[in-house]
Formats: sequence, C-alpha cells, structure tokens
Amino acid sequence: MWLTDTGGRRYLDCVQGIATNALGHAHPKLIKALVEQAKKVWHVANIFQIPGQEELGRCLTDSCFADLAFFANTGSEAVETALKMARKYHAVAGQPERVDIIGFAGSFHGRTYAAINASGNPAYLDGFGPRLPGYVQLSLSDEAGLADAIARPTTAAVIVEPVQGEGGARALSGEWLLELRKMTREHGVLLIYDEVQCGMGRTGKLFAHQWFEGAEPDIMAIAKALGSGFPVGACLATDDAARGMTVGTHGTTFGGNPLAMAVALTAFEEISCTDTLANAQGAAGNFVERLETLRANYPDVIAEIRGKGLLIGLKLIPGNREFMALARNHGLLVAGGGENCVRLLPSLLITTVEVGEVMERLEAACEDARQIIKEIVR
Ligand code: PMP
Repeated sequence: MWLTDTGGRRYLDCVQGIATNALGHAHPKLIKALVEQAKKVWHVANIFQIPGQEELGRCLTDSCFADLAFFANTGSEAVETALKMARKYHAVAGQPERVDIIGFAGSFHGRTYAAINASGNPAYLDGFGPRLPGYVQLSLSDEAGLADAIARPTTAAVIVEPVQGEGGARALSGEWLLELRKMTREHGVLLIYDEVQCGMGRTGKLFAHQWFEGAEPDIMAIAKALGSGFPVGACLATDDAARGMTVGTHGTTFGGNPLAMAVALTAFEEISCTDTLANAQGAAGNFVERLETLRANYPDVIAEIRGKGLLIGLKLIPGNREFMALARNHGLLVAGGGENCVRLLPSLLITTVEVGEVMERLEAACEDARQIIKEIVR
C-alpha cells in the first residue's frame, strides 16, 4: 500500500498505477514469478506456442462467459481488438454495413484512434482530426435513443464500462445492463464490456458484470490488474463473436509474451482466490460506511460517494485537483476523475488498519479544504 518518494517521504497509495496494482507494490509472489521467468525466455512472438498464454487463456475463459482470449499489451489494444472483432463478425456474416459502434457519455476506452472515437469525452479527440464515421455517442440516460440506435441496421456493437472509471466511478445498475443485454440480443448487436478498470477483482467479483446474472457480454476487454503492474491486456470473447477473427486478421508482436504471462498467471491466482475477493468486498463495505459519515460531517467538501467495490469516487465541491494536492500533503495519494471526482483505487489486499489510515488522512484533507473554502468566502 505504501510508496516512498525520492526524498524519503512515505505515502499511502490509493492510486496504485490507476487501478492497476491490484496486489499493491512489490508483491513477493509477483517478483518471484517475474525474476524466475526473466532467467528463462523473455520473448519469442506468438508465431510460436507459448504455454503461459494457453494456461492463462484457460484460467480466464474458465472464469467467465468467454471461450477465447487474445493477449495484447494495454487496455487500448484490448479495446481495439474488441471493436475490430465486432465489425468483422458482421462482415463475415454478409452484413458489412453493420459498422456503427455505440458508446456513452463519460466513458473512457483508451487513447488509440478507435478508442478515442468510441470514448464519450470529446476532449480526447481535440486536435486529432474529425470524429471517424461509425461511432455513435449517447447519454446513459437516453433510453429511447439507445433503443433506436440498437435497432438500426448499421449498428455493429455497443461498448460500455459496467463501472465507468475515468468518468468518475459511476456504477451502472444491474437493471440497466440486463435491459441492454436483452435489446442487443434481440437485434443481433454485439455487446462489448470494457472491464479494463473495473475488472479483475476491483469490484469484489472477478469481473464487475458478474454481480448481475444474465448480463454476460459477447466480448470483453481487460488489462490493468491483469498484469498487476506488468503491461498486459486481453480481449475475451465467445466462439461466436470471434468467428471472423481467423489467422491473419489480427496480431501483435509483444502481446502475451512469456514475461507478461508469468506475472499475469500469478496475479490471476492471487486475485481470483476467495480470500482476496472477500477482502476487497469487506474493505469496500468498510470504506463506504466511513465515507458516508465523512460526507455527513463535511457536506461543504464532499457532495456524493459513488462507485462499486474498491473503485470508489468522491464527488467534491472544491476542485478535485486542489483536493488531490491537500491529500498528498497528508501522505495520501488519490486519483482524479470526471465530474470533479477523486477516486480511491487501493490494493485489493488493503487491511482494516490501512482503511482507517486512509480515512484519517482524508479527513485531514477535508478539514484543510474547509478552511480554504472559509478563507475564500471571507
Ligand atoms: N478502458 C478503460 C475503462 C480504462 O480505464 C483505460 C485506462 N485508464 C483504458 C481502456 C485504456 O487502457 P491503457 O491505458 O492500458 O491503454
């Protein structure tokens, strides 16, 4: 949970590489896995059989809706794979006109060209040329617009984060996801979940959508905690959704190399075990209760607590950037987020004592923010 800076100051880290180090820093099992693999083979490219890929692919597909896994290096690449797969699915079925990807306001899917076009924040596109054709943006509350868009004969897929991360820890309800699943299925439109941030134990289940039975997607992008700090992403899919992705249609040089697989396999074992997920759920419950009390005591600083599991958002009244600096002064690192939120994204292994320490530091930052607000008003 702790980081020490170059000057020797210690910080409680609730950024964790932006929801990436699910097991915190310097986890001994991850270090061992990386060092042992580093003494063997690092990279061969996946034109060769890589046993670690097969093993991790099996672990992942055994734990969710998917039949197949494609390994990449980042979340953006996992999303790119998902979007290419969705269009190809329709193209091989003789419907090449089905190209439109429906995305939502406030979403974030990465920084590559397809990902910034699918993302729901126009700022990411600013200066990078016109929005590409084939991307539709809707508000999450526009139910009629969504039903309309899904029914269009040019629609290929819907992409959604079950819990928006960068957008400010916004958790979608099971009801909303189940309705989306029903509508997409009725119209032969593929459903893509971006669980790059909310997946791999972050919400207290291995995958966030697994809180809602029946809400399984056709395709899912994951990354971040998959390597728990080592760069690796994956696109998971059903056999049917991946039907167009035959040999030669997609590829990668580094994706799923032996180093990444060694770390990710160990991370998978640690994250997917009952104790880790139970700890994450317990810590999340503890946080929410104590954060609600903090909000009640500081209504001039905290407007709302939101999120799911250990993807926690505090919607603030003072500027989130300023608040992050105040927290840092008290030795606490928190991440920013959309809608003036700060996010708490601690290790899934956080202890009850550490939750208490985070809360103490947060309270100190709230007190500072209150004093600054009072000064300004005066
Ligand atoms: N999707 C989501 C939901 C993300 O949060 C992120 C990263 N913040 C990405 C995609 C992109 O991942 P990467 O930065 O690894 O390309």
